[in-house]
Amino acid sequence: ILEVKNIKKSFGPLEVLKQISFEVNKNDCIAVIGPSGSGKSTMLRSLVHLDELDGGSVSVNGNYIVKDGVYSKPQQVKQITSNMGMVFQHFNLFPHLTVIENLELAPKLLKQNDSAQTRQLSMELLEKVGLSDKADVLPSKLSGGQKQRVAIARALMRKPEILLFDEPTSALDPELTGEVLRVMKDLAEDDMTMVVVTHEMEFAKDVANKAIFMDKGEIVETGSPVDLLSNPQMERTKAFLSRTL
Ligand code: ATP
Ligand code: MG
Repeated sequence: ILEVKNIKKSFGPLEVLKQISFEVNKNDCIAVIGPSGSGKSTMLRSLVHLDELDGGSVSVNGNYIVKDGVYSKPQQVKQITSNMGMVFQHFNLFPHLTVIENLELAPKLLKQNDSAQTRQLSMELLEKVGLSDKADVLPSKLSGGQKQRVAIARALMRKPEILLFDEPTSALDPELTGEVLRVMKDLAEDDMTMVVVTHEMEFAKDVANKAIFMDKGEIVETGSPVDLLSNPQMERTKAFLSRTL
């Protein structure tokens, strides 16, 4: 459903993405791994147009956000990217809004649906991430793992076809990563299509159906997570894994 072809991005003289191509099929859970600075976040952000590409194409169900470096009209880009949800390392919840207000903010601003429907969906999603009892508290009263689960519920409000995660557990204390990974695993089992930038190799092996190793702005190797992580073919992948495992 998502096709990425030869995307390029530089920050000044630094080439951060060098002709990257890959596809995401329906129900895929793709784990993206790679060293710091390899361009993982930039790649993910460019898919939802939080970063502007210098070249290449990104399309969802055949609708182009950008084609050969030329962006579609803002209205169309917005419509296509509204089909994708993103979860960040640092939750990005609004601190002055309660949990349920965080979920309801975007639909309210967009004046989508009626508020009863929005309320019902919010409660369903909080239930799904195990936080229905926290609807009316402020984010400051939550643990990091709970905040991230709220962020995931919020990303689900638009019923995205694809969910993107950028190191969703990297800012968490180790004992809180499990509850977030559990929610992500549930989503994958519910056939949510996901792209997950992560350092959680066990999650990659256990949940993802495909792994991508990035280094220095390139995709060095792709394969099944177990193969790629247990039996990497490329020297750069071997070197990275021997440093991290
Ligand atoms: P990490 O694992 O540390 O999150 P990453 O793989 O996500 O790393 P990116 O954040 O995509 O890497 O960054 C790739 C490169 O682009 C880095 O060298 C970074 O310094 C640079 N970079 C990222 N954003 C900007 C920016 N807004 N302006 C200039 N350089 C940037
Ligand atoms: Mg990053």
